[in-house]
Amino acid sequence: MLKYDCLIVGSGLFGATYAHLAHARGKKCLVIDKRSHAGGNIYCEEVEGINVHKYGAHIFHTSDEKIWSFVNSIVPFNRYTNSPIAHAPNGKLYNLPFNMNTFHQMWGVKTPIEAQAKIDEQRCKAIEKMRAEGVIEPRNLEEQALTLIGSDIYEQLIKDYTEKQWGRPCVDLPAFIIRRLPVRMTFDNNYFNDSYQGIPIGGYNKLIEGLLQGIEVRLDTDFFEQRNYWESVANQIVFTGKIDEYYGYRFGKLEYRTVRFEQVKMNTPNYQGNAVMNYTSKDVPYTRIIEHKHFEKFGMEIYENPWTVISKEYSTEWYDGMEPFYPVNDERNTAIYEKYRALTMHDTHVVFGGRLAEYKYYDMAPIISRVFKYFK
Ligand code: FAD
Repeated sequence: MLKYDCLIVGSGLFGATYAHLAHARGKKCLVIDKRSHAGGNIYCEEVEGINVHKYGAHIFHTSDEKIWSFVNSIVPFNRYTNSPIAHAPNGKLYNLPFNMNTFHQMWGVKTPIEAQAKIDEQRCKAIEKMRAEGVIEPRNLEEQALTLIGSDIYEQLIKDYTEKQWGRPCVDLPAFIIRRLPVRMTFDNNYFNDSYQGIPIGGYNKLIEGLLQGIEVRLDTDFFEQRNYWESVANQIVFTGKIDEYYGYRFGKLEYRTVRFEQVKMNTPNYQGNAVMNYTSKDVPYTRIIEHKHFEKFGMEIYENPWTVISKEYSTEWYDGMEPFYPVNDERNTAIYEKYRALTMHDTHVVFGGRLAEYKYYDMAPIISRVFKYFK
């Protein structure tokens, strides 16, 4: 008899949720992770009593009541509402997402009708210019944005930020990246449209600890270093690492974009007054500054801790050895991924799940929803 019913490779949200649900059904699970901590990319490190999101700011949001109840049954969530601020090339601050506050700050307009008229005036100019050049459909992201929202918002809040994110000029980026631009004709700075959002009280590590309670976990353990052994310990494997690595890169390496973080601890209780500040000018090399304490402390609570920790985010090309964050779902990579996916059909004893094994960007709630499907 094998030692475990299920070996789970990776203790990120997919692996930890899978382990939790399998354990609850009486399965003997072992979770291994090559990192020295559990939690994958939602792991937080405590610095001066502040939970620092080590792999990028994470805000949980969903409209699915089942998922919200599930995560809250593991750890209660707080009332954090994401309302980022943009620091624009013209030096001014604007509320995001684009809403009546943004339009008032941009043009001084006070009503939805005035705002819509301003947007339409600028959109029409862009459409007329395209038509004059014989262009019917936007050919690139720049044309797409100009015809959706007009030049002021594009120049101040979209152009440079997008170019920093993708490392390419907007005229060289495909239009489909922004097929829609959510525009809100109300004074509402809530970034998400979902019914529920928040941060686990005490941080994301509490969520992972709760999910993995009672389950054997081995850290600093890379599946590929003793592959034969790990394949022999359980009948079923849940693999949440990179799919190309699982198949020995036989069809080539999949590419990613990544983010480099520059973390600074400061002896000040409140650096920027908000968790998320987007820098939408090309003159500033980073895309965002995250001030972590604002995810968990509100109002005057901020001042109870004299310290703060910020992370500057630099969107970067990915090379081997860096954290693979965002899959690049272009033609080349999609074709390679499809070849790997075809191989998974023969490995029926393996569940390939999560952002690396499925080579797909998932927010946290959809990751949980994916795992639920295996336990219907
Ligand atoms: P991961 O968290 O990457 O876990 C995979 C685990 O497998 C890792 O711990 C890794 O060490 C381990 N592993 C890999 N290979 C091996 C191996 N060979 N042997 C052993 N272990 C291995 N979602 C939201 O809902 N809201 C947000 O605000 C948000 N912000 C994000 C910001 C950034 C910068 C990024 C990149 C993602 C963000 N997400 C957000 C998405 C969220 O991070 C993912 O949904 C979630 O982390 C996916 O979990 P996972 O288990 O698939 O992957």
